[in-house]
Amino acid sequence: MPLISKTTFLEFQLCPRDTWLKLHKPELVEQFTPTAFELHLMEEGNAIEHVGRGLWPDGVLVTETGDEACRRTAELMAARTPAIFQATFVVDGFIAKCDVLAFNVAAESWDLYEIKGTNDKKEEGEDRDHISDLAFQKNVLERAGVKLGRLFIVHLDREYVRDGELDLEALFVKDDSTEQVAAIAQEIGEEMMVARGVLAREREPSITCDCHFKGRSRHCRTFAYSHPEIPEYSVHDLVRIGTSKKKLAYFMDHRIYTLDEVPDGFELGDAQQNQVLAHKRRAPIIDEQGIAAALERYRYPLYFFDYETYAPGIPTFAGFSPYQRIPFQFSLHILRRPGDALEHLEFLQPDLADPTEGVAKLLSEHIDPNGSVVVWYAPFERDVNAEIGKRAPAYRMALERLNGQIVDLREIFVDQHLVHPEFRGSTSIKAVLPVLVPELSYKDLAIQEGGTASKEWWRMVAAETPPAERQAIAAALKTYCARDTYAMVAIWQKLHELAATGASRQSA
Ligand code: SF4
Repeated sequence: MPLISKTTFLEFQLCPRDTWLKLHKPELVEQFTPTAFELHLMEEGNAIEHVGRGLWPDGVLVTETGDEACRRTAELMAARTPAIFQATFVVDGFIAKCDVLAFNVAAESWDLYEIKGTNDKKEEGEDRDHISDLAFQKNVLERAGVKLGRLFIVHLDREYVRDGELDLEALFVKDDSTEQVAAIAQEIGEEMMVARGVLAREREPSITCDCHFKGRSRHCRTFAYSHPEIPEYSVHDLVRIGTSKKKLAYFMDHRIYTLDEVPDGFELGDAQQNQVLAHKRRAPIIDEQGIAAALERYRYPLYFFDYETYAPGIPTFAGFSPYQRIPFQFSLHILRRPGDALEHLEFLQPDLADPTEGVAKLLSEHIDPNGSVVVWYAPFERDVNAEIGKRAPAYRMALERLNGQIVDLREIFVDQHLVHPEFRGSTSIKAVLPVLVPELSYKDLAIQEGGTASKEWWRMVAAETPPAERQAIAAALKTYCARDTYAMVAIWQKLHELAATGASRQSA
């Protein structure tokens, strides 16, 4: 039985069954491979902890592993080291690795700091995970005989704006959470005992999985193992069904799993109804007039536009706050008049420098005030433009104007003018493109989604990445971003054809 770390314990608090399966069913291991987004969060967390250590310039890092890490920790504590990073304790089947253990000379005790990559302290009740995390460590350290003093959560201050060198004292906030931790320490200690007992069992514990009463986004990756009766595409995939608890409970109670089994006339929201109808008919629902009316609002020249961004917790450049997006890339396909050849403009920041001014200048020069800027999910591009405008005031007006020109191609699908059974309720461009324009997908690309694009740009601009690799990443990034905007062009053309077919049918 492996040692129970705070990560395992926090997972156990969320779901004992899933945690047991992860530990005891290695054949399911593929399902636990982190996504690009999860990997990014882990890497960000590590980077933030690393920078946060700078708050204790006399700190010493425990680099050893296993028993050696515990021995080294004891040695550093005996020497009253001012701060120990990754102090390690193993006791009674639990392991705690502390971000920072700092010796408080006046109190003759050790203060514990947990560095979190979050912006701001969460509201009362929302920070239960962080407090549980500290309470777990407190239990382990006290079992190991450590005299603890105050307990802190260290987090980023969202209001911080970098100005030259990083100011760590302003970037990080230390929240004294000693009393909150003390209030739940006994309860956590008891839960730890339960976790140890359950996770040590060799036979699968009879803990039921009740996530079949929740929408797909709430299912963990062992859901299919726990519920083999529920198909990979099911009523759990109906749009926003997770917020309709009674409907989902009805389906489960009546063993209605597939969309075909949903009774005709069952009360559903419009989007859910259309999703079921299109699925049952095995044919799309097309509102040609609605599509035509939506497209009529588009004005030439048409600018098909998309950003790629990277949002580091530690602001990289002056003028940035924690997690503010660096707009490292854009792609712009331009159609000036009907029938014209498509033009393409792209930007990719080649090195670790702030792209703000360069991006703002290019956009203000190349986007005419009369055309429509076509994007997929407008809030994203609008927010990035607003952030750029704040950092580059000379271009603020131009970017505000540009935001006024934005039209959101995705809204045609959100507004239910075209519902295809193969969209499976999604309005993501990754779901729509392969259905409407099958010859154009993302499957042939080295980079296939935005999370990977972000990570790859960060890798490309890292000093240790060899030039040949940088070139390969740059080429893959350009191909990916260009595909995003070209995909919009192709979808827009398809919609135009559908609208024209409807118009000619009406006039016939
Ligand atoms: S799907 Fe089942 S196993 Fe997974 S978190 Fe939900 S209850 Fe736990």
